[in-house]
Amino acid sequence: MSTYNSHFQSKLPNVPTSIFAIMSGLATEHNALNLSQGFPNFESDKKLIELVNKAMLSGNNQYAPMPGIFDLRKAIAEKMELLYDVCYNPDSEITVTAGATQAIFTVIAATVSKDDEVIIFKPAYDCYEPTIELFGGKTISVQLNPEDFKIDWEAIKCLITDKTKMIIINTPHNPSGRILSKKDMLKLEDLLRNTNIMLLSDEVYEHIIFDGEKHQSAALFPALAERTFIIASFGKTFHNTGWKMGYCIAPKELMAEFRKVHQFNVFSVNHPTQVALAEYLKTPSNYLVLGSFYQQKRDLFLNLIKDSRFEFLPSKGTYFQLLNFKNITKESDYAFAIRLTKEQKIAGIPISVFNNENYDTKVLRFCFAKTEETLERAAEILNKI
Ligand code: PMP
Ligand code: GLN
Repeated sequence: MSTYNSHFQSKLPNVPTSIFAIMSGLATEHNALNLSQGFPNFESDKKLIELVNKAMLSGNNQYAPMPGIFDLRKAIAEKMELLYDVCYNPDSEITVTAGATQAIFTVIAATVSKDDEVIIFKPAYDCYEPTIELFGGKTISVQLNPEDFKIDWEAIKCLITDKTKMIIINTPHNPSGRILSKKDMLKLEDLLRNTNIMLLSDEVYEHIIFDGEKHQSAALFPALAERTFIIASFGKTFHNTGWKMGYCIAPKELMAEFRKVHQFNVFSVNHPTQVALAEYLKTPSNYLVLGSFYQQKRDLFLNLIKDSRFEFLPSKGTYFQLLNFKNITKESDYAFAIRLTKEQKIAGIPISVFNNENYDTKVLRFCFAKTEETLERAAEILNKI
């Protein structure tokens, strides 16, 4: 008989399985159209896939250098210069990661200690809070108003204490599809000036922004940039979320701390893909087209469901659209999402899971990174509900 006591104390006793795993699993089980987890159902550019093949056949199959291959870091630095007119040193200020999730984990692991406070805004992407908790930090969650998701920076000022270590922002924002304006960023800059508070700026949707708006990267604001870890994801940008490739950018003192953890967290990430991405990034149109590409999908989807019983404000960025179902049912968003998947064969994400105390605003999130045919089939279902 085993003497092993498996009833050890969990480090994350209240953390459930991620909603993305739950809803995608349910969609597969019930053969439902999966507009829940955020991933495209079309292939990335064949040229990019050929570049990865070529890189493999040319022998780039052993460990890459710990921070990433230099050519890719250089290409990322050039992209930052082109887009935001800012200079990051590829040697000391950029690290290639296994997607944004690993980059976020590594930032928090490298910076947050026991009892440090980290301010986040709800609804929030699901990986921030458990990671803060894992390292003994305390999450200060600010629930945003579900009408406009605006941040009241004056109210945030009141939450800052001598224990505040970091603020986490995400623009364009998952799941709301809202974006932070230049005014927001200037207020945040004022708030953090003359403090030691760090910023984690999750900018994985930086290129997916609509209606002529400009992405307000933390890199554009000097008093933010000096304290910011910027997080990016190639999966979101080049339609290959399964490759799990991304990067982190930060001033060199912060990046040195990041790399101390990164080297033991993964050491280095997929080598041939880095070689391919370095080449592919040399053509800026490969990422500059993304805004209009996804705006077209958003507009098609919203036009197709304009006469449905769902209410919505058009998404301003990301590839997610929120739909309010308060005119349809009084069910919880979670129960409704599960019933839609099982009975109507369409899966979305209940956004209460990203809110404080599962605050239910009767809203589901649908991913429109799908082919026209899939969006048409989705609309057909949604229009009948
Ligand atoms: N942050 C946000 C806001 C996201 O939506 C996602 C999901 N792509 C991530 C981080 C994680 O990205 P990755 O798949 O590159 O780990
Ligand atoms: N970022 C994706 C989303 O919001 C999911 C990523 C994941 O599955 N963890 O849907």
